[in-house]
Amino acid sequence: MKRYLLNFLFLFFFVSMQSQELVRKSFEKMGSLFEISVVADNLEQGNQAILKGIAEIERIEKLISSWDKDSETSKINLMAGIRYVVVSDELFNLIKRSVLISELTNGAFDISYASADKVWEFRGQSIRMPDSVSVAESVANIGYKKVILDENKKSVFLPRKGMKIGFGAIGKGYAADKVRELLEREGISAGLVNASGDMTAWGTQNNGDPWSIGIINPLDKTKVFSWFPLQHQAVVTSGDYERFVLIDSVRYGHIINPKTGYPSKGILSTTVFAPKAEIADALSTAIFVMGHEVGLHLINQLPNIEALVITDKGKVLTSNNIKLDEDK
Ligand code: ADP
Ligand code: MG
Repeated sequence: MKRYLLNFLFLFFFVSMQSQELVRKSFEKMGSLFEISVVADNLEQGNQAILKGIAEIERIEKLISSWDKDSETSKINLMAGIRYVVVSDELFNLIKRSVLISELTNGAFDISYASADKVWEFRGQSIRMPDSVSVAESVANIGYKKVILDENKKSVFLPRKGMKIGFGAIGKGYAADKVRELLEREGISAGLVNASGDMTAWGTQNNGDPWSIGIINPLDKTKVFSWFPLQHQAVVTSGDYERFVLIDSVRYGHIINPKTGYPSKGILSTTVFAPKAEIADALSTAIFVMGHEVGLHLINQLPNIEALVITDKGKVLTSNNIKLDEDK
């Protein structure tokens, strides 16, 4: 009897697995390409869930966008040097966590890097080196320690005119985490959210296989040099090969060293594995600034976080617990 029941359960499980559908949709939000994949009971349920995911991204964009003049973030920036701005708990907490990551990375990741946005515009074009005076001015306005947070009133003050915060290095990761949370609440037992290379996955694909990601060699984009299974975790890749400027034929990426005001050099791409896309996103940016040695040293001290770095010389370096396919 027991055996029969077990067989029956197994059969039932098998049937329900088979009838599940993989529903996938790509779209543009936050100025980037997103893709949501869900394993759902049917097409209808999958599409409904994805629409909710898209609405969630739009909601987050209203909080963190630097382009939307009405976003909470723009209000903080507009009032720099003038007054405190009361914000939602959600944005307040995101800023608080951003400051914690600044402390963890010794200021390599810093949302107040954004005053440097005026000096550098990364659109892949060739420009002249900005004058050192404007760069120095932007550095004077950078510094997470300057950001004033009033916990009681949930308000934020940037004390210097010209100071600015921006979530370019954490926002997509945060959005990916939030969409995943929402979909899980909606009863979607497996899926993958990809925010232009910032990914988080849960459950398995509808054929039972784990989700997996291939790391592409930025020096030869036709080659995947290693595959990694993605089980209940996030992976984020930051690379400078899409957004950069050329100055006297030298490539400068879009990640700014907050201490110098100049773009970081030496790394082509970083990939970070972590339980949440938010921290993976922020750390992948920080490693660019810290350099591969200091960056990987930090990663090796953090539990459940791993990283892979490709230097501009084409060298592939990893944190202690990553085994590449080629090493196997
Ligand atoms: P990608 O867009 O390739 O995923 P990142 O996640 O590394 O890139 O984020 C890069 C973006 O983060 C930049 O375009 C800029 O908006 C912002 N940024 C640049 N330098 C820093 C920094 N030192 N700390 C925090 N944010 C930064
Ligand atoms: Mg990032």
